[in-house]
Amino acid sequence: MFVPAADRYESMTYRRCGRSGLDLPAIALGLWQNFGRATPYGTQREIVLRAVDLGITHIDLANNYGPPPGAAEENFGRMLAEDLPGLRDELVISTKAGYLMWPGPYGEGGSRKYLLASLDQSLERMGLDYVDIFYSHRFDPTTPLRETLGALKTAVDSGRALYAGISSYSAERTLEALEVADDIGLDILVHQPSYSLLNRWVEDGDPSVLDVLGSSGMGAVVFSPLAQGMLTDKYLEGVPENSRAAQDASLRRNFLAPEVLDRVRALNEIAGSRGQSLAQMALAWVLRDPRVTTALVGASSVAQLEDSVAALENLDFSESELAAIDEHAVEAGINIWAPRSSD
Ligand code: NAP
Repeated sequence: MFVPAADRYESMTYRRCGRSGLDLPAIALGLWQNFGRATPYGTQREIVLRAVDLGITHIDLANNYGPPPGAAEENFGRMLAEDLPGLRDELVISTKAGYLMWPGPYGEGGSRKYLLASLDQSLERMGLDYVDIFYSHRFDPTTPLRETLGALKTAVDSGRALYAGISSYSAERTLEALEVADDIGLDILVHQPSYSLLNRWVEDGDPSVLDVLGSSGMGAVVFSPLAQGMLTDKYLEGVPENSRAAQDASLRRNFLAPEVLDRVRALNEIAGSRGQSLAQMALAWVLRDPRVTTALVGASSVAQLEDSVAALENLDFSESELAAIDEHAVEAGINIWAPRSSD
């Protein structure tokens, strides 16, 4: 029987999610990869329970996380039932729908038909009555925003979700979504975009995604802040077996081009001069912006998660450190979600 650490809320930093009443941990855990059927259940359980002990109250899922799709929700549902039964009210659990989940015309996109059926399936897999946050996982140019956001509103009004979120929407689409949401009486709590030292799209444009979030009071839970592992020391000497890049899927081997690795090496040196691992500096860096609520990380081991959470020991940057980082923190062509941000 798992007994959570009594001091679990003492070391974690919590930040208010935009202009809402909800605090989220500065570092949250996502179950996109390493929590399906290809990873031993015992390893997954160890990581999630360690996260709870470290004060990570927010666990992020989506309908399609696995492999196969749905498996991460099933595995997490088992942990909720067997290890965390008394902790539901201490956790913020999110899920999403938007990407391909089942065959036929209703298993993908932003329709009301798909989103609400998918949410019901997610609740079933996790054994929950409600999730804390339900996201539109991506912008769907073929569905009116009114329909997509109307489905999120139904999810909230029916008690199947406490809050609504959008993910990967561009600044322009976020502004449109805010207008529609206002019209239908929906509050959008949070945006979940990708953001890292090598993927700075949320800073681009006038207004940028971050500008829109800042002015509207939405929070930002930024995903892949370690660029799927590129912003760690793991690829500096080649591609280790069992690493995400070895699978050559979401983290394509060709992302690790020599000029990108040179930048990663330079960033690694700056991190060393701060007394941090590169992963820790990469997380502190996304959190330097007060509009960012949470850095949403993945992990394939407890050691990785512990290394990442220790980033919170030094979140401050001097102007000269930020300037030095800016020289190397340039776009690396790794934003695979860009096509799903707009039309
Ligand atoms: P990430 O934190 O950038 O990458 C995690 C990977 O980096 C780990 O699987 C591990 O790679 C490596 N790693 C993590 N900590 C490390 C450390 N301290 N030292 C060395 N290597 C380390 O994030 P992500 O997994 O790409 O995404 C995080 C979460 O964001 C997902 O689980 C999901 O919840 C969310 N997300 C959302 C969307 C969306 O469309 N909304 C898209 C993607 C992700 P190995 O596995 O190779 O060991």
